[in-house]
Amino acid sequence: MNARFFQLLSGYVSPGVASSVSLAADGERVVVIDPGMVSNKELIISAIQSVGYSAPEVTDVIVSHLHLDHTMNVALFSNATVHDFMASYKDDSWENHEENFSITENITVVSTPGHTREDVSTFVKADSGLVVCTHLWWSSSGPEVDPYSHDQRTLESSRSMVLQRKPDLIVPGHGPSFKVSELRL
Ligand SMILES: [Zn+2]
Ligand SMILES: [Zn+2]
Repeated sequence: MNARFFQLLSGYVSPGVASSVSLAADGERVVVIDPGMVSNKELIISAIQSVGYSAPEVTDVIVSHLHLDHTMNVALFSNATVHDFMASYKDDSWENHEENFSITENITVVSTPGHTREDVSTFVKADSGLVVCTHLWWSSSGPEVDPYSHDQRTLESSRSMVLQRKPDLIVPGHGPSFKVSELRL
């Protein structure tokens, strides 16, 4: 059995800033990826309901990195364990994890530095194929050179590593999902 995957909201960077928000469900785990800035947090709640889940049912939240535009609404999920590049957090528990780790058999989190040193990408094996949620691209059009990157070469090597895994769909930080063939770089 594969995971179910939904891009709940497509991010954007102008006008305003909003994060792409996604949900992956696999067995008992309901995982939200990047509950960040949106025009109204109710949008996240209603998008989750529209795919058959509710905020209290969310067991895990993954943040792609630590910029607030991708973490702003983490507190909507009071029952969730929150995962970043370094550790998993629940209530007052802080457990460091390996650099790459799995939430379930079909949901894997991989270190992909470049936008920041603390970036991770989430791979989801879904019926539609292999999906990756990542901030290595903001949208299908790049930007090729990330103005926030601490090291563009590291970013490019993380992009290559992600593409080598042959994802069928990329969910970028601030745009609708796209196929690798649609990358306009
Ligand atoms: Zn960022
Ligand atoms: Zn961002």
